[in-house]
Amino acid sequence: MPKVVIAGSMNIDILSTMPRAPRAGETVNGDTVAFMPGGKGLNQAVAAAQQGVEVAFVGRLGQDAFGDQVESFLRSKGIDTGGIVRTTTSPTANAIIFVDKSAENYIVVIPAANAETSPEDAAKLEINAGDVVVSQFEIPRPTIAAVFARARQAGARTVLNAAPALDDAPESLWADTDILVVNETELGHFAGTEVSGDAPVAEVGRVARTLLRRPGQTIIATLGVRGAVAVTAETEFLVPGRPVKAVDTTGAGDCFVGSLCARLSAGDELETAMRYANVAASISVTRIGTGTAMPTADEVRGALA
Ligand code: ADP
Repeated sequence: MPKVVIAGSMNIDILSTMPRAPRAGETVNGDTVAFMPGGKGLNQAVAAAQQGVEVAFVGRLGQDAFGDQVESFLRSKGIDTGGIVRTTTSPTANAIIFVDKSAENYIVVIPAANAETSPEDAAKLEINAGDVVVSQFEIPRPTIAAVFARARQAGARTVLNAAPALDDAPESLWADTDILVVNETELGHFAGTEVSGDAPVAEVGRVARTLLRRPGQTIIATLGVRGAVAVTAETEFLVPGRPVKAVDTTGAGDCFVGSLCARLSAGDELETAMRYANVAASISVTRIGTGTAMPTADEVRGALA
């Protein structure tokens, strides 16, 4: 059975809800705080595993209590943790997240052990034709490049979620990516232009098209409440957003990517997988949290019906 392989980040998210975020120098009283497994890699792995496909993880944790919490959480989701290295030289990463009453979020990430994820970590992992190999920009670029080069050699499909939008990506990595997934901010960053949240879909598609590097590639731009648009050399289509009452949009993109990869590994066509991922992500924004907010396959199928 083809599997989803994730090379990525794992954090303990320290998530606090509050009426509004503090301004510089100000103190506010918050409502709640929780210590929850997160990180783009982990969130996407959980989103994929909950769709009932096999998921293997490559990444690094510290030798600390947060690392134990993350590893047992991944195991409880049935994720293969054999590719996780417990490093002695950095603690487990954290993300400090504020969510205000309008569901807007403010995030600080401390990369710690994630920054030590190395190309060798992935070397012992089995990658087969038909697997879907996915990464994000929370581990070092050379590690992603090495994993993708191996994936392409093995005949696996590569999915790059170019998030967060920091620095540039090496051209070789771009060329080794089969499906690039970006939100509007990331699209603007990597295309070297501004893409506003209300830019017409045709304009988003036109900018996305500039990121194509070779035949056979797909660029997916997620548009929040408006859904997602896909661009290939031959086609362009919009999957419209599903209206819901959003309470926390943190991790929506991760839910989209993880669910998309799960359905691609199960053999869905791109558009079918995107429609599924769009519904999965719309469910995730109705819940607080990231790794813990991912819907199950039954929930997604129920909403699709
Ligand atoms: P990111 O979380 O990376 O910024 P987006 O905000 O574009 O990504 O959201 C990713 C996907 O999550 C969207 O393409 C859509 O499917 C879903 N989504 C996000 N926000 C909402 C919302 N308010 N209502 C319904 N679906 C949403």
